[in-house]
Amino acid sequence: MYARGDAVFFAGTRYHEGNRHIEEFSAQTCQTCIRTYDQLGKVTPCISDCTAEVHRVDVLDDLRLHGMSLENCIQCRTCEIVCPQMNLRVNPTYEGSGPDFFGL
Ligand code: SF4
Ligand code: SF4
Repeated sequence: MYARGDAVFFAGTRYHEGNRHIEEFSAQTCQTCIRTYDQLGKVTPCISDCTAEVHRVDVLDDLRLHGMSLENCIQCRTCEIVCPQMNLRVNPTYEGSGPDFFGL
């Protein structure tokens, strides 16, 4: 049985520093989405369905914000597909950043 973190290891994921290959179009939209799912007692789809535990909620004062650990991403694009607000885009990386997929 594999855990989600295993996907990062087997995908051979490596990124250049400062890599920002996933675009979040509106932070406000994410805040509203997180609040809505909180009220339902659930986590947002980007968190629940990400293959590699990239998405998270960051707490800043009384705000709950969408955050990402992009260095873990294996570029499956699930988050882009499941985001109910179409608020994400997974872009191609550059300079050889990303997974090499040999271990998958
Ligand atoms: S599911 Fe989409 S809108 Fe909701 S927090 Fe994630 S990226 Fe933002
Ligand atoms: S593309 Fe999205 S769902 Fe897939 S690993 Fe990266 S952040 Fe997670």
